[in-house]
Amino acid sequence: MRLVLVGPPGAGKGTQATVLSEKLGVPHISTGDLFRAHISNQTELGREVQEYLDSGELVPDAVTNEMVRERLSQPDAVDGFLLDGFPRNVAQAGVLGEILAQNEHKIDNVLEFRIDEDIVVERLLARGRTDDKEDVIRHRQQLYRSETAPLLDYYGAIVVSIDAVGDVHEIGERALRALRAEQ
Ligand code: AMP
Repeated sequence: MRLVLVGPPGAGKGTQATVLSEKLGVPHISTGDLFRAHISNQTELGREVQEYLDSGELVPDAVTNEMVRERLSQPDAVDGFLLDGFPRNVAQAGVLGEILAQNEHKIDNVLEFRIDEDIVVERLLARGRTDDKEDVIRHRQQLYRSETAPLLDYYGAIVVSIDAVGDVHEIGERALRALRAEQ
């Protein structure tokens, strides 16, 4: 299965991605995690993207798309994956479509996490990652609305939406039920 998770920062995509990746037997690919790994390993790419992550800006598409292209070419991702944090805008979605089309593949479903902005801001403040400061959080939410939410129209009929408020286990079950209903 080739699945994209979409939802505002703090909606619990990362947590659910870990669970879903195991249940669905596909790797969890998080662009945020890949960038943070580059930063902690002090790679060239890490140095290049650090400022963007610190300020909550999107890393330029060219850099992000190449990193994703490379990751998707690895053997574990050939038969399926769960993308968390990518695509983040319609242009990235277009590139993803092109990468997959080269092997006659496509995205099967987009799982949308629905949750109120006030709830996610509170959660993120409690999480305390280095980019979880209130002004940066607000900026990331605003970028979600303007850049990322349009993906829901872009993907249209393959979007499956779930209520992302509640118990972690229950949300995981909700996601699996919603995805199974699509198959
Ligand atoms: P996340 O872990 O998904 O919350 O992402 C953390 C940060 O990584 C974001 O605020 C961006 O700076 C950067 N980032 C992650 N994914 C992308 C992407 N697809 N496009 C551009 N920047 C991204």
